[in-house]
Amino acid sequence: MERVDPMTEETLDPQDWNELRTLGHQMLDDMFAYLQELREKPTWQPYPDAARAEIGGAVPKEEGNAKQVYENFKENILPYPNGNIHPRFWGWVQGGGTPLGVLSEMLAATMNPNVAGGNHSPAYVEAQVLDWLKEIFDFPQEASGLLVSGGTMANFVALAVARNAKAGYDIRKEGLTRHKPVVVYGSVEMHSSLLRTVELLGIGNQYFRRIAVNDAFEVDADALRAAIVQDKSDGLQPICIVGNAGTVNTGAFDDLEALAKLAQEFGLWFHVDGAFGAWAYTIPEFRPRLKGLERADSLAFDLHKWFYTQYEAGVTLVRSDSAHFQTFTVQPPYLKHTGRGPHGGQNWFTDYGLQLSRGFRALKVWMAFKTFGLNKLERMYEQNIAQAQYLAQLVERAPNLELTAPHPLNIVCFRYVIPNRTDIELNTFNQELLARIQESGAAVPSGTTVRGKYSIRVANVNHRSRMEDFELLIEVVERIGAELKQQTGG
Ligand SMILES: *Cc1c(COP(=O)(O)O)cnc(C)c1O
Repeated sequence: MERVDPMTEETLDPQDWNELRTLGHQMLDDMFAYLQELREKPTWQPYPDAARAEIGGAVPKEEGNAKQVYENFKENILPYPNGNIHPRFWGWVQGGGTPLGVLSEMLAATMNPNVAGGNHSPAYVEAQVLDWLKEIFDFPQEASGLLVSGGTMANFVALAVARNAKAGYDIRKEGLTRHKPVVVYGSVEMHSSLLRTVELLGIGNQYFRRIAVNDAFEVDADALRAAIVQDKSDGLQPICIVGNAGTVNTGAFDDLEALAKLAQEFGLWFHVDGAFGAWAYTIPEFRPRLKGLERADSLAFDLHKWFYTQYEAGVTLVRSDSAHFQTFTVQPPYLKHTGRGPHGGQNWFTDYGLQLSRGFRALKVWMAFKTFGLNKLERMYEQNIAQAQYLAQLVERAPNLELTAPHPLNIVCFRYVIPNRTDIELNTFNQELLARIQESGAAVPSGTTVRGKYSIRVANVNHRSRMEDFELLIEVVERIGAELKQQTGG
C-alpha cells in the first residue's frame, strides 16, 4: 500500500466537480426514465447469482470510479427490486414513493443535517410538518410529535410513553421491579409490531391481551371491558388500550369511540395504531368510522405507506407533551441546550425519542404537502379504496374465486376455490398459487390466513395502479389457478 504523507490534505469531495455533476445529471435522467417505464417491467424477478456476484468481491480498498460503480448499480442492482414501486404491487402494505420524493431525498442529503434538534431550518421544518399532522388528525397544537422510521417505531415510542405515564411510579428510576404486572389490551388483529413493543418494554407478552373480534374483524369492546375488570380483580394493573384504525389483515376499524370511553372509565392510556388506515380520517365519508381517533392519547401512523413518501417515515403524535418528554429526555453536559447558536431553539426531537442523531425525514414530507396538497392526497386515498372495491367486485364475479373477509377499506382477501377440496387442501393450493403469481412477474399480492383460510391479499396503497391492473390480476389468478388445478388433479 502506498503511504501518503498525512500532511497531504485530502477530501471526499470530487477533484473534478464537473465530472461528478455530469454523472449526477445522467443519473437523474436515467432514474426518471426508469420510473416512467416501470409498467413495462416485471413486478418482481429473482435476483440472479451472476448479478449477486458482481456486487461482491473482496473489501474494496483502492479508489474506484463513480461512473463504473454507477454502471454496476444499473446492471446488477436496479433491475431487481422488491417490486413495491411497480403499478401491480399490492403485497403486505408497502408504499411506492414518488418522483418528487427522489428529488426531496437528494435535497435532504445535500443539507445532510443532524436533526437531533436545535436552531436550524431542518428542525423547524420537522416542527412544521408535525403541526400540520396534528391539525389533520385533530390533535391539539400543544401536543407533541416525532418523525420516526415507520409504524413499528411509532408504536414503540407511543407505548413507551404509555407505560411510563401509567405505571404509577418512577419507572425510569426503578425499572419494572414492582410486582404488579402492567397489562396492555387490543384485538387479535393487532399488528405484530405491538407484540414486539410490549416484549421489548419489559411488559411481557403474557400481559398483552389480544381480545376476540366480531365478523367484521373489529374488537369486541364488551369482551375487552370484561378482561380489564378481571385483571383488576386479579391484582394486575391495566395501563393501555390499543385501537386499530385499519388492521393489517383486512383494513378493519375498531370502534375507537367505545375504546376511548373504556380508557377514560378505567384511567388507561388510549393508543391508536393507524399505520395506513389513519389517513382515511381525511376522507369525509370515512371520518365517522374513525370517530374516537381524535380522543387518543397517542396515534401512530406511517408516511411511507399511504401518503406515499419514500422510505423511511412514520409519525407518533402524543397528546401530552410532558408525558412524552418525561419518557425520553436526558440532557448530559455535552448535549446541553444552550439557548444560543445552532444548539439553541425549542425543537429538541431527541428528547422525544430514542434516536440522538436523526436524519432530515421531514423535508420529503414537507415537499409532498406543499406540492401535492392534502386534497390531492385525499383523492389518491379514495382512488385506492375505489380500486380495492372494484377488485372485490371482480372477485365476486369470477367463477373460481371467493372473498374470504370483509373489505371495508383498501385491502381485499380472496382465494381460489375448487369444489370438493377441503380447506386444508385449498390452503396448500392457494399458497402455491400465490408463489406462482409472484414469480410470474405479473403482479405481487401477498398472503395471509383469515379464519383458517389461506388467502391472497391485496393491500392497495399504490398511486400508480389503474383499474386495468386489477383486471389483469384477476386474469392472471384465473389462468395460473386453472393450470395448477390441472396439475393437482383437476
Ligand atoms: C405496517 C404496519 C405497522 C408497522 O409499520 P412499519 O412502517 O412497517 O414499521 C404497524 N401497524 C400496522 C397496522 C401496519 O399495517
